[in-house]
Amino acid sequence: MDIKLEDLLNELKLKKVRLSHQRLKVLEYLVLNQCHPTVEQIYIGLHNEVPTLSKTTVYNTLNSLTDAGLVRVINIEDNETRYDIRTENHGHFKCESCKSIYDFNIDIDSLDSHDLKGFTIDDKNVYFKGICPKCIQNKNLSK
Ligand SMILES: [Zn+2]
Ligand SMILES: [Zn+2]
Repeated sequence: MDIKLEDLLNELKLKKVRLSHQRLKVLEYLVLNQCHPTVEQIYIGLHNEVPTLSKTTVYNTLNSLTDAGLVRVINIEDNETRYDIRTENHGHFKCESCKSIYDFNIDIDSLDSHDLKGFTIDDKNVYFKGICPKCIQNKNLSK
């Protein structure tokens, strides 16, 4: 559950993936901000620290990290792609009020259906939507 930049760097070394300083900053951002950011959020988040970083570099870095298996792409909404540094199977809960995405542990591997006999499954996702406890509390307070 605990993701360390050091471990990821070792994994990259094993896979012979070399990251430039800019690309390293993108990886670091994902480790420090485990909130499933979009390309836009990463770009804005790093802009002060790395002013030369372009959105294309962020995008390309995420692609190579995804290829290397260090980052997972999640599409909860069709129109937004988010990036997840946690690559083991887990569920996502999206709060429709504050738009935060929460991770939760669920045994996705054990989910199966007889209707899918003969199908090859490449990816399994569990998405829940609703209102998070923080927003429920804020709503109650403002009443
Ligand atoms: Zn919320
Ligand atoms: Zn996640």
